[in-house]
Amino acid sequence: MGMFKKNARNTPTPKPLPKLSHKIPSLVRGMHDLLPEDEKYWRAVREAAQKTADRFGYIYMETPILEETGLFVRAVGATSDIVQKEMFSFTEPSGVKLSLRPEGTAGVARAYLQHGMVTMQQPVKLWYYGPFFRHERPQAGRYRQFHQLGLEVLGDGHPVLDADVMAATHFFYQQLGLPVYFEVNSLGLPQTRKNYRVALIKYYRAKKKHLCEDCVVRYAKNPLRLLDCKNPQCQELMAEAPVLMDALDEESKNHFTQVLEYADAANVPYRLNPFLVRGLDYYTKTVFEIFYDKPEATEPVEIIEGQEKKDEGADEKIALGGGGRYDTLLKEFSGREVPALGVGLGLERAVTLLKSKNIKVKLFNEPQIYFAQLGDEARKVAMKLVQQMRQADIAVAERLSKDGLKQQLEYASKIGVYYAIILGQKELIDGTLILRDMENGIQETINADKLLEEVQKRLSAKAREGLKIQATIENRVIDTSESKEE
Ligand code: AMP
Repeated sequence: MGMFKKNARNTPTPKPLPKLSHKIPSLVRGMHDLLPEDEKYWRAVREAAQKTADRFGYIYMETPILEETGLFVRAVGATSDIVQKEMFSFTEPSGVKLSLRPEGTAGVARAYLQHGMVTMQQPVKLWYYGPFFRHERPQAGRYRQFHQLGLEVLGDGHPVLDADVMAATHFFYQQLGLPVYFEVNSLGLPQTRKNYRVALIKYYRAKKKHLCEDCVVRYAKNPLRLLDCKNPQCQELMAEAPVLMDALDEESKNHFTQVLEYADAANVPYRLNPFLVRGLDYYTKTVFEIFYDKPEATEPVEIIEGQEKKDEGADEKIALGGGGRYDTLLKEFSGREVPALGVGLGLERAVTLLKSKNIKVKLFNEPQIYFAQLGDEARKVAMKLVQQMRQADIAVAERLSKDGLKQQLEYASKIGVYYAIILGQKELIDGTLILRDMENGIQETINADKLLEEVQKRLSAKAREGLKIQATIENRVIDTSESKEE
């Protein structure tokens, strides 16, 4: 009753919340917070990234978020959309022009040269993870700050490496339970691209008046990008355009055939797309993009059927990532031949898909035990036992500031632990604990001195059970991709 005051007609009116006296600071347009409610997805992404890197032999590295603007102009190309209109740039008082990194390859290539990684055993396989910045028009799937996982392989031009990067990328999405496929193409050697550019200009010259506004600019500045346009009328024109594959030089043709053979051997699902060009200037030979492969007849096991929400544009064909070979980039930086390739995977798009498809993510080292205590006396002992469990490498969850058993058990079942341990007044006196199986509610009393042993014994049994289930899931995921290849 204290919450309500009575008005003249005797009806209670809720006490208003105190007014905010300050305007809350707001987010910068196009930026977004990674919130606790999405933490499990981001964690799954980070864990899948680490596992992929470990399995495929990539070493982690970081480059700074700020680099000289010239680095990106030289790498990505002065006529690219990124350099033309998407970089966050400023000039230092000393006059040096700096930019927030819009992509990862340029920085890694700089670091490789600057730190003499050329003297290491080649190829050098590196991976990175972090934020990137592009001043794009905010829309579904496009942010001004977004995160990428990147893989780069430097110092070796063998086609098996192109397939290895594709296999690692595929493995990453498999760990997340996301079915994907690649669209692949070859851009050939720089001279091939130049010849093809001339052929495209010739083809589009008489058709210029039918192009959309953007494409008129592309025609003048970067004709290869005409093939990227989504405008239906431009797409119609594209259907008759010359195909780069037909003009491919022998070396690139040979390289591409081998890449596809190695990709087949690694069971990487791909489709040829002769119009795939990618927006960055540094690519040579192989290029690819990764797309969500909508499961049809064979629904992957981790997707809970019948629960698909209307998603935010995730079904629309939107690239999850892209990459390719950049055999001439390091030569442009240093004069030295260093063939290389890499991939950048947009992580916001992966997280959006995981959420919209209700995919249950697998996390490592999540607490499987909850420790509930009742009252002040129990809290001290609980504190001691919880620390002992952590020292013994047992992941345990608790809410030591709370007292109510019902509330604590509700939380335990919400986070999905196998067991709850309960320490009340009676157990405190007896030197015992209650061990409750959260799946069936069965409770037993154990000796408090035997806590670690008892918990370890039970968790090992659950892990063995889990491994059996895991093996079945992984077999089914592999079956799915094999059946799609036929
Ligand atoms: P790109 O090299 O430009 O193709 O970028 C590689 C991947 O990064 C894309 O396929 C997207 O998944 C992601 N990405 C690029 N730009 C953005 C952005 N503005 N917002 C969110 N993700 C992005």
